[in-house]
Amino acid sequence: MGLSGLNIGRLASGGIITNYFCASACRHCLYNCGPHWEKSYISVEVAENNFRAVRALGCSAVHIGGGEPLLRPEKLGAVLDAARRSGISIDYVETNSSWFKDPESAEALLSGLRPKGLHKLLVSISPFHNEHIPFARTQGVMDAARRAGVRIFPWVAEFIPDLSALDGSRPHALSEFEARYGKGYVRRILDRYWIHMGGRALDTFRPLLRTKTLEHILGENTTGCRRELTDTSHFHLDLFGNYIPGLCSGLAVDRDDLENGPSSDKYPILNILGAKGISGLFDFAAREYGFRPQQAGYINKCDLCTEIRFFLVKEGYDRSKELGPEEFYLRR
Ligand code: SF4
Ligand code: SF4
Repeated sequence: MGLSGLNIGRLASGGIITNYFCASACRHCLYNCGPHWEKSYISVEVAENNFRAVRALGCSAVHIGGGEPLLRPEKLGAVLDAARRSGISIDYVETNSSWFKDPESAEALLSGLRPKGLHKLLVSISPFHNEHIPFARTQGVMDAARRAGVRIFPWVAEFIPDLSALDGSRPHALSEFEARYGKGYVRRILDRYWIHMGGRALDTFRPLLRTKTLEHILGENTTGCRRELTDTSHFHLDLFGNYIPGLCSGLAVDRDDLENGPSSDKYPILNILGAKGISGLFDFAAREYGFRPQQAGYINKCDLCTEIRFFLVKEGYDRSKELGPEEFYLRR
């Protein structure tokens, strides 16, 4: 097939996912990351090929994220080396601080990575992260970064007072935040912090938000998702050499197909979504696989889209490889 309408012209701003395994399993995680994933980390070869593709598509700087990239610091160092060789600068590396053991080893680890190109750390700070990671570790990483000469980007600093008021030596369940800061605290996080409604965030927020019926969702989304799928303002390429279109986690395009665009024979679902959107996917799944909605209500079209894709994978969908990575669909 020739070019699809889903060509990626230029990459604006984005990152490289080095690994999906993570010590946490945050309830807002877009990529369904967690400890249950295979402990696979990006190879130097895939990193170089990703960097080459990023450059070829007009982008010269990326961030590095996961999963938790710092769970394998020596491999992260090799990725930073590969970026430098490829002429790609690193905006920042994301971390959730789960790896922190003591001030000395944290400083040594960051000091070792700094000459390789680790100049800024995005340190995750939120009640979701705090469900798994004691805030003392987060503070330990920020202190160690200061000593190592690595700049910090606390994301989001606004939550520091909320977390600081609790015992920093242990994690805290969201219910503890609700108990301390009032009912509706978790819902109000959406007003304070950008959370994309995909992945695990869907199950977390669906019970807290006003939802829409299937008919409503289908009725208000009659056009395709081309705009979202071709948005490159927050792109990601992962350790498998996959490009994740837009913020549509669980969809994958082989990096080498980016230049010509995902063809409809190799990427039938993406092309249905691009041309007809959620209505097209629903019709396809209902007609060919007998899909029936499993929720009484949906947050938005992406909520339904994710449910349908989980259903297709469970039904053994094997007509293409665009529903991936595999472990995204193992557990929510
Ligand atoms: S949001 Fe970040 S820290 Fe939390 S599970 Fe996902 S990758 Fe891990
Ligand atoms: S409905 Fe699916 S393809 Fe469309 S924007 Fe949402 S997740 Fe992406």
